[in-house]
Amino acid sequence: MDLAFDSRHIWHPYTSTLTPLTCYPIISAHDIYLELENGKQLVDGMSSWWSAIHGYNHPHLNRAAHQQIDKMSHVMFGGITHEPAINLCKKLLAFAPNNLEHVFLADSGSVAVEVSLKMALQYWHAKGEKRSKFLTLRDGYHGDTFAAMSVTDPDNSMHSLYKGFLPEHIFAQSPKTGFWQEWNDKDIQDFQQKLECHHQQIAAVILEPIVQGAGGMRIYHPEFLKQVRILCDAYGVLLILDEIATGFGRTGKMFACEHADVEPDIICVGKALTGGYMTLSATLASKEVADTVCDGDAGCFMHGPTFMANPLACAVATASMELLETQQWAQQVTNIEQWFSQLLPPLTASPLVKDVRWLGAIGVVETHCPVEMETIQALFVELGVWIRPFGRLIYIMPPYISQREHIDKLVAAISIALDNPNCFKSMR
Ligand SMILES: *Cc1c(COP(=O)(O)O)cnc(C)c1O
Repeated sequence: MDLAFDSRHIWHPYTSTLTPLTCYPIISAHDIYLELENGKQLVDGMSSWWSAIHGYNHPHLNRAAHQQIDKMSHVMFGGITHEPAINLCKKLLAFAPNNLEHVFLADSGSVAVEVSLKMALQYWHAKGEKRSKFLTLRDGYHGDTFAAMSVTDPDNSMHSLYKGFLPEHIFAQSPKTGFWQEWNDKDIQDFQQKLECHHQQIAAVILEPIVQGAGGMRIYHPEFLKQVRILCDAYGVLLILDEIATGFGRTGKMFACEHADVEPDIICVGKALTGGYMTLSATLASKEVADTVCDGDAGCFMHGPTFMANPLACAVATASMELLETQQWAQQVTNIEQWFSQLLPPLTASPLVKDVRWLGAIGVVETHCPVEMETIQALFVELGVWIRPFGRLIYIMPPYISQREHIDKLVAAISIALDNPNCFKSMR
């Protein structure tokens, strides 16, 4: 592979053209393995950023893609419909919280978030109320496009860089009580005060239910989410849940909001929607939200991407839903959660470790110092695993089909890295 060309000309996520970092050439992937150009097999701990939940090169998903591509890979969705979209939306609605009745299909997670925010704005516009603020949480992450960035943690997304471009929204303290800890009512106070103070301008609350992903891998108490729903109802504010990372079983429930038994007004899904095969996302809304939006001046919801409901992506997503319908994922995720609960706590013996936490098929090791990316990445590859940490977070969310031996191997690799001071930047 022409790696020199890659490093000279191709941007990777969050990389510099001045100081390109090492990129590892992958030539194929199957089950829980990524295969390097030199033939080495890496146990995948990332599910390609939450998405490849069934593993790679899955026969059922491959078959769906082959069958669909022989019929049509894409047709426009304006004035046209097709079975792949209808089949997928039927299954999505069957899985989703009961109150959600309308599906908007889009191309990526960030766009699903944009769509949800636009729905909330059009909703209040239709009701004749001026509401243009969103209330969200610190340490959150909702994507890299402008509106999504504006509700992402301001420090994380470098808000200062985009001053003047980014609308200013309201940020409440993120919950401190962990999922497995005892609930403390103080945790909701800041959120409650911000809502009380600004609710007349707030179109919606948007947050990641139970697990705050890219903003810090924080796993919080379901009672927080319960209280959020109660407060949104009390103050008449819409609730948008961003389940792009957590959706489709990752936390041990089909959707993370089920841990708190709450139904959102709007939900965003993406990442694992196609089992990691293709880019596709969806925003689901309640009948009340959808009908109010369409009752406004515009007379419709104002959005329509070119590749909306791409049939190839919808066909594979439907196949992924079929695998989830077998319910095997529930036992698999429960097993992984149990293995994490045995394997992660011993890591706290390392002086480098600040905290370990887990939920479902998500395992997190938070360190005191940030990782030395090049060194730790090379070590992981040498040890035969694919784990991509960021900052002070080494985290794994393996495919659900992972066996005990694979989880052992992933955690053992983290343990070896923790014994290796070169893998970490020294604290200043
Ligand atoms: C990844 C992610 C997004 C953005 O999705 P993209 O497909 O990368 O645009 C939004 N919200 C959450 C919670 C995510 O994890």
